[in-house]
Amino acid sequence: MAGKTLKTEAVVLRSIRYGEADRILHLYSKTRGRIGAIAKGARKPKSRFGGRLEPFFRLDLLLHEGRSDLLTVTSVSTLDGYPRLRSSGPALNAGARACDAVLRLLDSAEPNPHAYNLLCRYLAILDDSAQERAASLETALAFRLKLALAAGFAPELATCAHCGESEHLSGFSGAAGGVVCPSCEAGSFPLSEEAHSFMVAAIGSPLAEAPQAEERALRQVERAVGETLEHHAHVQLRSAA
Ligand SMILES: [Zn+2]
Repeated sequence: MAGKTLKTEAVVLRSIRYGEADRILHLYSKTRGRIGAIAKGARKPKSRFGGRLEPFFRLDLLLHEGRSDLLTVTSVSTLDGYPRLRSSGPALNAGARACDAVLRLLDSAEPNPHAYNLLCRYLAILDDSAQERAASLETALAFRLKLALAAGFAPELATCAHCGESEHLSGFSGAAGGVVCPSCEAGSFPLSEEAHSFMVAAIGSPLAEAPQAEERALRQVERAVGETLEHHAHVQLRSAA
């Protein structure tokens, strides 16, 4: 068989039934960013892949790279299956939205260790039953902000994204890519001080320590991140929760 072998660690973002017994996998890998792969015979009862080719599994993989766009999975071992995440409805939902955001925002074959580690960190927090706020909207939005930062699309939060003014930053413009002052507010929406502070604090804190905020402020944060990514990364994310 011509081609080469790739060994990498990766998270399964999506797993699709294919043909009679195969699976197509969307993987986010540590060393090569996004990878599409096929696992032949994965749905046969005695498949050597077992049940590990499901979303959220963090795997060590050997893949064969031939002429096709899809790599072929040749061997798999589990690094983490996040079993507690799988038994909680809110955690499953949050994990699915996180994988979907990675799928939409990071589609290149360039490795992005910040994004990879952030995804693994979030899955680990969702899997940790001691983390009561793991599946909260706050943590979901902190993940989204950090993911935007890792992908190179962090909103400008320190000064007006249009003119550089540093005071009275009471609006947010997705087109400008950040907070804006009253002179530059065309096309912006009002951003409360609470929402602004949440974004600054969430980017500056560990994911497990996302700041708290009122629902209204959090919805403004979601809109701010969403509009920034729509304008600058040309992707639309599903709602955060
Ligand atoms: Zn301005």
